[in-house]
Amino acid sequence: MGSYAEGKVLCKRCVMDTSIPGVKLDDKGICNFCHMHDNLERRFPTGEKGAKILEKLANKIRKAGRGRKYDCVVGVSGGRDTSYCLYYVKEVMKLRPLAVHFDNGWDSEIAKSNLAKLCKKLEVDLHTIIMDWPESRELTNANIRACIPYIDLTDDIGIARSLYSTAEKEGIKYIILSHSFREEGITPLKWNYIDGRLTKAIIKQFCKIPLEELKHFQNVELHDMLYWIVWKGIRVVNITNYYDDTGEKIEEFLKKNLDWEDTGQHHIDNELFALVYYYSRRKFGFDWRVVELSAKIRTGVISREEVLKALESPPFFETKENVEYCLRKQGLTWEEFEEIIKAPNKYFTDYPSYYPFLRSFRWLVWLLCRFHVIPEHTYEKFFLAI
Ligand SMILES: [Zn+2]
Repeated sequence: MGSYAEGKVLCKRCVMDTSIPGVKLDDKGICNFCHMHDNLERRFPTGEKGAKILEKLANKIRKAGRGRKYDCVVGVSGGRDTSYCLYYVKEVMKLRPLAVHFDNGWDSEIAKSNLAKLCKKLEVDLHTIIMDWPESRELTNANIRACIPYIDLTDDIGIARSLYSTAEKEGIKYIILSHSFREEGITPLKWNYIDGRLTKAIIKQFCKIPLEELKHFQNVELHDMLYWIVWKGIRVVNITNYYDDTGEKIEEFLKKNLDWEDTGQHHIDNELFALVYYYSRRKFGFDWRVVELSAKIRTGVISREEVLKALESPPFFETKENVEYCLRKQGLTWEEFEEIIKAPNKYFTDYPSYYPFLRSFRWLVWLLCRFHVIPEHTYEKFFLAI
């Protein structure tokens, strides 16, 4: 039996390897994603410094919410990180959040019950946007037929629209998210790039329901983003990058104080993940865990040896039974699926997207990063690691 590292040129610090698009090693054998992590580490302090930044931010958000029912929108899934983030916003930052959840039809029962209990205990209003199931299913199948690595692309569009349009309707200026580079890592651009033009192209080419007949799904185009960001002045902040509370520590806290139940590794709040992981491993030969586990090696939560051992077998939820359940629910047969696995692999660069346009305005992206209008590592991720 070969080991995970066999035939790959791995970074000496994490487990990213040079077969992953965008990964480059320096002369010491350290990858550019490790360097990006170290830069972010400097820009996003935790501990006392982080707490001070969050305190200032809370004041700013409170001021912007004056005279309105809510101060901010918090995106929630029922999983560990978003649940803790909602608690933090309400009880530590003392803000008045509106929890927003997008249900694509794949929520696990535990995630649903976690969400309901959490919002009740914290006395937070919950706004759930439930996707029409036949549409949601067909959109996911369109992404699969397009042979791109990121088959939940249209769900992320749905999440973005839910968050921004709820903020717009309620006159809210801040959307709070809980993505952490320390916990979840930095995903290579070719693995998860999304934009409205790409989505439109994929729907036009691969979705059996024509774009104009989709009644529930609404794309997010460049003009929508400009309207929300420039005209409405809605900002997105990732507060998780400023606090130390992560991993098992917050799991224990949530179980003890908020009746929270483990969703089986923190992101299996969405049952489609069995298929997402299986599809990418079989078709592209990559394991989504690499991103997250590399981040955990960098922060010292787990050793590189332990990670290499874990990567020798597929994730525990990627069982034949779970994958078959996903395919059945998606209405795909094994034969159809195998055909897709065998078809040539594609990336966003094989379809029309806004990326060439963004590239020609890279100086503007650099400026927006410097002035904290968009996440700070966007420039590096978008233009230096592809
Ligand atoms: Zn590395």
